[in-house]
Amino acid sequence: MINFNVPPFSGKECEYIKQAIETHKICGDGQFTKKCSIWFKERFQAEKILLTTSGSSALDMAALLCDFQLGDEVILPSYTFSSTANAFVLGGYRLVFVDIRPDTMNIDETKIERAITDRTKVICVVHYAGVSCEMDTIMKIADQYNLFVVEDAAQGVMSTYKGKALGTIGDFGCYSFHETKNYSMGEGGAIVINRPEYVEKAEILREKGTNRSRFYRGQVDKYTWVNYGDSYLPSELNAAYLWAQLECAEDINENRLATWNCYDEAFRLLEKDGKLKCPTIPKGCIHNAHMYYIKCKDINERTKFIKHMERRGVSCVFHYIPLHTAPAGLKYGRFDGKDEYTTIESERLVRLPMYYNMSKEDRKTIIESVKDFYGT
Ligand SMILES: *Cc1c(COP(=O)(O)O)cnc(C)c1O
Repeated sequence: MINFNVPPFSGKECEYIKQAIETHKICGDGQFTKKCSIWFKERFQAEKILLTTSGSSALDMAALLCDFQLGDEVILPSYTFSSTANAFVLGGYRLVFVDIRPDTMNIDETKIERAITDRTKVICVVHYAGVSCEMDTIMKIADQYNLFVVEDAAQGVMSTYKGKALGTIGDFGCYSFHETKNYSMGEGGAIVINRPEYVEKAEILREKGTNRSRFYRGQVDKYTWVNYGDSYLPSELNAAYLWAQLECAEDINENRLATWNCYDEAFRLLEKDGKLKCPTIPKGCIHNAHMYYIKCKDINERTKFIKHMERRGVSCVFHYIPLHTAPAGLKYGRFDGKDEYTTIESERLVRLPMYYNMSKEDRKTIIESVKDFYGT
């Protein structure tokens, strides 16, 4: 069976984890966490990056940093993972879902403005499949209405929009290092703080509401409980695993892109014959090959497709059930305007196996199996 996902492994992980154990520093914010944060900060030219226990907890932090007041609303796509919405529900917000664009499956930037009310506080965008949303337009709207922008860039590590790293464009950016993402630490994530005036608040929030970070920097002579907070820092054992991958991030990226391009070349021919639909990468966007998906005619064809692939030993999956139709979505939010594409496009989409170091034979098996399904 060809797995849908294999967690990335570069070879140095065990050595680094052993190092963390031997230096008797396995709680958070040790040398590996530092190495990772500096790597991201320099490479992505970010103001501040803090590792977290997951992409979800990075989103939780972002929602808590947006100066919530009772009655506030967040605008977000319905086509996303539950974590995007959970963070804002836990923060007290009402959810306002907006339709997606069929070409990228990202929030439709032209439908955001009509969803804005006098209670809107945040626009939370999701860079689906590591392909950027139309950020110039979105940042302009946010500016005009004085809204925060949170980027759920869980899938977008190493992707760019007009030269800028995803996660560094809005006020806060969120990454995930779950084992299904391009760079992993098992469970983990990071928050990017792009506004210097929020750095201290974020550090306090992450360190159980204390000013421990200032204490370590020698800025105060004792540390104390100064605000509400939680524990969002990951163990050094996890950070050590991540560091091994950041050291060869370029190789992982190129390797995944090679597989992505191989799929794309083969399936563009089927698209030309009108058999399926391939992903669109808009101008100005450089993606990270987080995902390769195709779109079938409809949900029935997709069910047949997944069964066909399974018989060939290839595991393919679909996601997401639109959040506005889910029980929690009905409870905590509303859909603004017409659901023109969210439901219908979500029912067509199917993801093909994609991971670091996929073998050439497996790639070939997958491509041949798709071609067989479409009788070519
Ligand atoms: C993976 C993912 C998350 C959650 O990340 P975890 O690290 O699993 O908590 C959030 N949003 C999107 C879009 C994701 O793909």
